[in-house]
Amino acid sequence: MSSSGAQPSIFSRIVAREIPATIVAETEHIIAFLDVAPKAPVHVVVTTKDPQYQNVVELAAGNPTLLAELVAVAERIAAERTNGQFRLVFNTGVAAGQTVFHVHAHVLGSSTPTDSLGEDSLGAL
Ligand code: AMP
Repeated sequence: MSSSGAQPSIFSRIVAREIPATIVAETEHIIAFLDVAPKAPVHVVVTTKDPQYQNVVELAAGNPTLLAELVAVAERIAAERTNGQFRLVFNTGVAAGQTVFHVHAHVLGSSTPTDSLGEDSLGAL
């Protein structure tokens, strides 16, 4: 349940194993899974198990240690799955493309050394 008393977010339902996802990393506080609608050859969503923070600004203010853990997990995923160059994107707000109000990062990258993400993938996620 989120702090606003709304229904559990889709990511909380993944954490609870109520809906399926391809989970690629998990720690005590963080879970990461393949994005269901990938925008890059490698596209992983990294989120907190705690649903109380809606976006990265709230998380940074409320629990910077947890934000650092999220980034560390994202870096590990990028090291395992990309060519070492990647984007770490936190959409913040509807106008920026945020659709799930449970803080999460997108890890976007390419798995082959020669592939580039290009400029286009800065568009809406
Ligand atoms: P954002 O638009 O930044 O809030 O990102 C939400 C992301 O969650 C989008 O890229 C969606 O494709 C992804 N997404 C939504 N539902 C699922 C799901 N059930 N499994 C995996 N990814 C999902």
